[in-house]
Amino acid sequence: MESCIFCKIIKGKIPGKIIYRDTDVIVFYDISPKAPVHFLVVPVKHLPSLREVNDEDQKLLGKLLFTARKIAEDLKIAGSGYKVVMNNGKDAGQLVYHLHLHVLGGWRKKEDWVV
Ligand code: AMP
Ligand code: ZN
Repeated sequence: MESCIFCKIIKGKIPGKIIYRDTDVIVFYDISPKAPVHFLVVPVKHLPSLREVNDEDQKLLGKLLFTARKIAEDLKIAGSGYKVVMNNGKDAGQLVYHLHLHVLGGWRKKEDWVV
C-alpha cells in the first residue's frame, strides 16, 4: 500500500532498524521505544488491523507470535519477561494501520515499567 509507513520500510523506501525478515514477516525496532527493548513484528502482507483478517491469515497470525517469541529469546529479554501488545482501532491508540505486534521488555526494575 503506497502511503503506508510500514509498507515503505518493508520495500526499503524508508529506513528501519531491521532485526529480522523473511518472506512473511519483518521485525524492526520501534522508532519511539516505550521500554528498554521495544520492537515491532509486522506481516509483509498489508492488513490494516485484526478487523480485516480472513481465515486464510490464521497461519500468518500464528507466525507473528512465534516470531515475537524467537526474537525475544534472541535479544535475551524472554527470561525476565516481556509484553506482546496489539492495538486495534482508534480508541486503542492504533496509529499505524498496518497490523503489528509490539514486543516490550528489558526492564531492570519494576519502577521502570511504563506500559
Ligand atoms: P500503534 O499505536 O500500535 O499503531 O503503534 C505504531 C508504532 O509505530 C508506534 O509505537 C510508533 O513509535 C511506531 N513507528 C511509527 N513510525 C515508525 C517508523 N518509521 N519506524 C519504526 N517505528 C515506527
Ligand atoms: Zn502497509
